[in-house]
Amino acid sequence: MKKLLILGALLFSFIVSAQNKEVKISIDPLSENIYMLTGQGGNIGVFKNEKGLFIIDDQFARLSNQILSKLKTISDQPVSMVINTHYHGDHTGGNENMANKGATIFAQKNVRSRMKKNQKEKGAINPVSLPVITFNEGLQLYFNNENVKAFHVHNAHTDGDAIIYFVNGNVLHMGDTFFNGRYPYIDLKSGGSIKGYIKASEKALLIANDDTKIIPGHGKLATKKDLETFSRMLKEITAAIQKEIDAGKSEGNIIKNTTLTATYDTKGYGDGFINSERIRKTIYSSLTQ
Ligand SMILES: [Zn+2]
Repeated sequence: MKKLLILGALLFSFIVSAQNKEVKISIDPLSENIYMLTGQGGNIGVFKNEKGLFIIDDQFARLSNQILSKLKTISDQPVSMVINTHYHGDHTGGNENMANKGATIFAQKNVRSRMKKNQKEKGAINPVSLPVITFNEGLQLYFNNENVKAFHVHNAHTDGDAIIYFVNGNVLHMGDTFFNGRYPYIDLKSGGSIKGYIKASEKALLIANDDTKIIPGHGKLATKKDLETFSRMLKEITAAIQKEIDAGKSEGNIIKNTTLTATYDTKGYGDGFINSERIRKTIYSSLTQ
């Protein structure tokens, strides 16, 4: 109990300091006209085109001004389009500010319904922040020198995930269906599942080649090799947990069994937001749901 209290206090002070600290925004070129912007929250993809700036996700509302001034360093054009990879607040928090500056927001249809539901529960729906163009399975966007494809992947991180591929630039943005080098957060309460999550990584591996630059939702810019390692990690741990379930082991037993994740724990996969116990619990819950 004491240990838990100390852990809680540590976590609280970490959150407070993370909120108070000036967030550093950086932007790195991935091709002639595609960039990755990092700050706090989900990694942002940026595509400079003849219609303005097209961004993938927009982090938190409080960072919008900082993000917009960073974008000014690559273009005087306004943000004309935003695609949300899913509904979580660290990817959609800037929607309202972007929309107020004239951006059109796109997303898979479940993003819109989950955002609405969430806002309604907290008080009132804010229509300006919601995607105005939604799609079911996918979307193609054509620019002078680029063709952008958005694919919906089913029940992965949530039930509204989209992965975005820039065909000519060969850049793939995976939203939170990829946490590079870390155990992922899988939002089971919002329709996420381990099986769908693995399928999303397999789909992305079909799209990517050795030269593809992969933007994960969280973590550093990745290659196809990094994504293969991540996908293998998910499959191995899932198979190990399924084996325990089939052998009749209890939930408590599986959650405590560190050998199930040991190979990847030692590689630091549990050092992020989701530790090794939490990933065993998530996968167990998803497999037995
Ligand atoms: Zn997320």
